[in-house]
Amino acid sequence: MHELKIAEELIGIITKVAESENLKKVTKVNIQFGKMIQIVPDIFQFAFEGAVKGTVAKGAKLNLEILAVRFACNKCKEETEIDDLLFVCPYCGSNDLELIQGRETIVESIEGEK
Ligand SMILES: [Zn+2]
Repeated sequence: MHELKIAEELIGIITKVAESENLKKVTKVNIQFGKMIQIVPDIFQFAFEGAVKGTVAKGAKLNLEILAVRFACNKCKEETEIDDLLFVCPYCGSNDLELIQGRETIVESIEGEK
C-alpha cells in the first residue's frame, strides 16, 4: 500500500509548512498526483486520515486532484495527453516521447487557522 508511505511523507511537508506559517490548525489540504503515481483516491483518503492523527492537520479536509499524463514528442514537438499505456505520438507515430506531466506528488496548498 504505497498510499500510506506517500501520505506520511506529505504530512511531513504539511506540518513543516504549517509551522512556518504559524498555523495552529490545518483545515484543508490540496494535493495533486500525477496519474502515473497510480494513487487510489479512496485508499489515499484512508491513509491520510490515519497519518494526520496527532498532527496539526488532524481532521483537515483532503482535496485530491489527479493530473493527466502528458508527453511532448521529440520528433514533431507536439504535446499530448495519453490515457492508455500506449506511448505513441498520435500526431506522427513516433515513440520518442518525453514525459512532461504525470509523476507529480505535490502539496499544492494548505489552508488553516492561525
Ligand atoms: Zn510526434
